[in-house]
Amino acid sequence: MERFADTGVELSDYATHFVVECPRCHGKALVTPTQRLQCTSCHHSEEKGRWYGYATAYLSVKCRECHEQIRETYVWKNGSKSVHSVCKNCGDSTHYDASIMRHPMHEGRMTDSVFGLPLWLQDTYRDHHFWAFNYEHLEALNSYIQAGLRERGIEPRNTIKKNSAMFSRLPAFMTKGSNRKDIVRMVDDLMRK
Ligand SMILES: [Zn+2]
Ligand SMILES: [Zn+2]
Repeated sequence: MERFADTGVELSDYATHFVVECPRCHGKALVTPTQRLQCTSCHHSEEKGRWYGYATAYLSVKCRECHEQIRETYVWKNGSKSVHSVCKNCGDSTHYDASIMRHPMHEGRMTDSVFGLPLWLQDTYRDHHFWAFNYEHLEALNSYIQAGLRERGIEPRNTIKKNSAMFSRLPAFMTKGSNRKDIVRMVDDLMRK
């Protein structure tokens, strides 16, 4: 049996760089720690700026004329935060600044937080979504899944805060014994991707 020692690492510790799908050629691209996109296939490269993922602009203001509450949500496509709104009460038409919310999922796939591009290392198992930010993250998940014995909580001097550690929050399907063979195979395929 392999043993696995949970070091209390958090998910955000792995979110320093990402392997994603290139927006130009759909090949493998990297989002570097300096937040630059670099494709390994077509050599497309760009600085942080454009958001390729799903985002919404949420507006919650009082009409500048009649003070009626205005609440609207729009699909946001880059550019300005300013949205056009017509008051349903008095008909006043103007632009307001909305709050932009970038969503982690786009068209059913998990995306990176810099460009909103689909993560390269993802797959589904039955109805479950499995993904990793990068190969280091995948490797860590793999060690965890492979381990027959998990040590978290066994050592009395183990001081990991239960809810902050990534591994204690992994979905059950990943660690369920009967799924392990399939999950291991899926992770193996992703490692070679
Ligand atoms: Zn490319
Ligand atoms: Zn109004």
